[in-house]
Amino acid sequence: MTYPNTQLFIDGQWQDAADGRTLAVFNPASGQEIGRCAHAGKADLDRALAATQKGFETWRNTPAFERSKIMRKAAGLMRERAGDIGSLLTQEQGKPLPEAKMEAMASADIIEWFAEEGFRVYGRIVPSRNLSVRQLVVKDPVGPVAAFTPWNFPINQAVRKISAALATGCSIIVKAPEEAPAAAAALVKAFADAGVPAGVVGLVYGTPAEISNYLIPHPVIRKITFTGSTPVGKQLAALAGQHMKRVTMELGGHAPVIIAEDADVELAVKTAGGAKFRNAGQVCISPTRFLVHESIRDQFAAALVKHAKGLKVGDGMTEGTQMGPLANARRMTAMAEFTKDAVQRGATVAAGGQRIGEVGNFWEPTVLMDVPLDARIFNDEPFGPVAAIRSFNTIDEAITEANRLPYGLAGYAYTRSLKNAHALTQKLEVGMLWINQPAAPWPEMPFGGVKDSGYGSEGGPEALEAYLNTRAVSINNI
Ligand code: NAD
Repeated sequence: MTYPNTQLFIDGQWQDAADGRTLAVFNPASGQEIGRCAHAGKADLDRALAATQKGFETWRNTPAFERSKIMRKAAGLMRERAGDIGSLLTQEQGKPLPEAKMEAMASADIIEWFAEEGFRVYGRIVPSRNLSVRQLVVKDPVGPVAAFTPWNFPINQAVRKISAALATGCSIIVKAPEEAPAAAAALVKAFADAGVPAGVVGLVYGTPAEISNYLIPHPVIRKITFTGSTPVGKQLAALAGQHMKRVTMELGGHAPVIIAEDADVELAVKTAGGAKFRNAGQVCISPTRFLVHESIRDQFAAALVKHAKGLKVGDGMTEGTQMGPLANARRMTAMAEFTKDAVQRGATVAAGGQRIGEVGNFWEPTVLMDVPLDARIFNDEPFGPVAAIRSFNTIDEAITEANRLPYGLAGYAYTRSLKNAHALTQKLEVGMLWINQPAAPWPEMPFGGVKDSGYGSEGGPEALEAYLNTRAVSINNI
């Protein structure tokens, strides 16, 4: 599908920025400019804010049944259009076409789950101490939401926020990624085409800091939701705190993968190894710190190296590509620095470690062995196709290492022992733990982190709670 220019979506209209500003969008596989994206200014944001206020009044007064019907229609449109939308996503972000199509298809499941859960926003009646009084707990939409979504999963990160907002009766302005704008716009279009009224969903792009500095303090906005790096999340949460705004923060991670003495090594390589290089490692829940029991270290490392070396890296549009380019040049610089630093501190490169070719952002699937604890890659979020391996002797040692960092998003473990599984469940400081399986971030399960990985959930009933006010009402029957 030909790559389009992307406009803003304000008050039900696709439009250019008032001052006509645009930003270039590049294909990370070729480095070529493939389109332009509108850059909102203050006048555009003011119109988006007025529209979202109006949209909130319309949507909160639309019955949950109607809201659900419209949302389910949007889900159907995403399924119908997944092929075309996937192609846009691959061109702007780089991931292989099947992964991109899968992201579009999965968005439909997410929308449907939230559409159904919107029916279950129950209040309650609480027995009163006075028989003439009826005590109610009521749940209301929190109000217009400002959402900030990143470039690694331009559809997935936006759809969780839009779906939770719409299911609870909120309106939402999304600032989607300027570097990969068209897939997010296609998602918003599916909602609009399904019948979401004007003003309920807005879409803007521009300079991220300018937009967040303007929207977060603005009195119309009642809730902030952000997915991105921990440093930026802390800044935005602080700003939201100054203005007493509700916040959900889904931030960075540095997922430990604990492979115990009694692990199914083949399963660990297939699932954690497979997940490591998905989306070229640019995944907040990507397995990153591989902690392997000393007795199986060589066996595991050899199998992971074989897997990494066997991956077909290339343009995501080419059939058979298993790993695409990194989404932007910043990640290339980061991979080069992480690798150099680890080697200088004593790690060995067992696979990859180099840029591929001169054109596009291609980095070899990389495996680093015996990475020292002070290496940057064992401390900062890698966000790229690099697996870092260390060995351990006791499960407690592995748990201590897993909990050493301030991150607490995802964790993985492989063990056949119930005792280990219980210890890991109890002690690992992560928001999501997957044992003997790959990540399964289904919409019905909570999705979010602890510690510096943020707070709030983007899945399960908790995801709706984040968009609701809980109020107490007592009615005295005089
Ligand atoms: P970055 O920290 O500058 O930006 C991360 C995201 O935050 C981007 O989407 C960006 O547009 C947005 N952002 C930045 N400053 C902002 C502001 N003041 N207001 C609103 N939004 C703002 O870095 P980057 O180079 O784009 O991404 C690299 C790092 O970001 C990675 O190392 C990774 O830690 C993190 N990241 C995490 C996720 C995730 O899923 N949790 C997604 C993308 C990026």
